[in-house]
Amino acid sequence: MTPRQLVILGATGSIGRSTLKVVAQNPQLFQIHALTGHRNVARMSDLITRFKPHYVVMSDEMAANELREQCAHQCEVYAGAQALVDASCDSQADMVMAAIVGGAGLSPTLAAVRAGKTVLLANKEALVMTGLLLMQEAQKSGAQILPVDSEHNAMFQCLPEVVQQQLGFCDLAASGVSKLLLTGSGGPFRDYPLESLRDVTVAQAIAHPNWSMGAKISVDSATMMNKGLEYIEAKRLFHTNRDQLEVIIHPQSVIHSMVQYRDGSVLAQLGEPDMATPIACAMAYPQRISSGVEPLDFLALKELTFAAPDYQRYPCLALAIDACYQSQFATTALNAANEIAVEAFLNQQIRFTDIARVVEFCLTAMNEQHRSLDLEELLALDEQIRQDAHQFVRDRC
Ligand code: NAD
Ligand code: MG
Repeated sequence: MTPRQLVILGATGSIGRSTLKVVAQNPQLFQIHALTGHRNVARMSDLITRFKPHYVVMSDEMAANELREQCAHQCEVYAGAQALVDASCDSQADMVMAAIVGGAGLSPTLAAVRAGKTVLLANKEALVMTGLLLMQEAQKSGAQILPVDSEHNAMFQCLPEVVQQQLGFCDLAASGVSKLLLTGSGGPFRDYPLESLRDVTVAQAIAHPNWSMGAKISVDSATMMNKGLEYIEAKRLFHTNRDQLEVIIHPQSVIHSMVQYRDGSVLAQLGEPDMATPIACAMAYPQRISSGVEPLDFLALKELTFAAPDYQRYPCLALAIDACYQSQFATTALNAANEIAVEAFLNQQIRFTDIARVVEFCLTAMNEQHRSLDLEELLALDEQIRQDAHQFVRDRC
């Protein structure tokens, strides 16, 4: 079998690293066609030596220049936003791993979808920002979107093939599904005194108890905005209504999500908390390949526990669920405000508890009247909300 040609957007990040781990396990099945990064020259230089891509893209021009000096004879180095988009729709590529963090990933992810690629979707923000539009583009081009986010990948695995083949437009009830149960650990502050949350440090917030991830998603996990974004992601992928989707706290992160059927059956996907498993599942779909992850040792598991989310502790989760049922504009705004707030928290400009304040302010201030649901309007709203959030951070935090 000829190996499948893979482009990894965000190759220097946490998901990028796990994807390359799966590639290294299966060199006969996958070849790296192109890799993209932002500013991490040392990491990209190392990846060029190890994986020999045909070319790489650094979105930052200075980083690209530096890399060219280091790797002049090894591969082509391109720079900038258009080069990212070009890599995403490269005719030589079969599969694109969309693993850039945040709104920066939208254009290249959308380009891969429009080009009809098999898109391994980690960049949940792209789906939260554009929702139905992205799914419609996939339907038009015939692109297959395969969820990489562990929860959505878990649900995908527990759903029948007819649903898997119609993501975005499936009918869960027709397949006998009564509910999707979206699990989340509750993050590092699940049992932390509520009144002390305003004083938590960046180091505490990014120290996730079960998963090792990039800084932004780690903060999102601590506020549970991550689960909120995932709620919106699940609604878009699996076309759920309000009664068909529920968040459950499951501190051990062993069950990665579940599907409840009409007859009382519940199918769950379990495994070690290692992203290489959902990535391998998506890369090989519908086959199964080695991911390099240790099998789950049931006898070493002490207990599996469950609880309802506490919205006082996790106001961001409540904001996200409300936005999900308000409108597409609200979820675009929620994501934009959250990105600015998380960045400000990571730069120590605002407190942990200010993140929800920034998001709430932006959602309340948002005016969605006279807006039409097209990409240009959504991007304009995204830009406006980022400015509003910056201003709130400057003046009111
Ligand atoms: P990360 O911060 O570790 O890596 C982000 C990647 O994006 C890097 O390669 C970086 O170079 C690139 N990047 C950052 N800013 C960029 C910009 N402006 N332009 C172009 N490239 C840019 O993040 P991560 O944890 O790997 O997460 C990536 C995505 O996957 C996020 O959307 C996240 O929500 C999602 N995800 C991550 C995990 C996880 O376990 N890490 C799990 C599920 C979903
Ligand atoms: Mg997840």
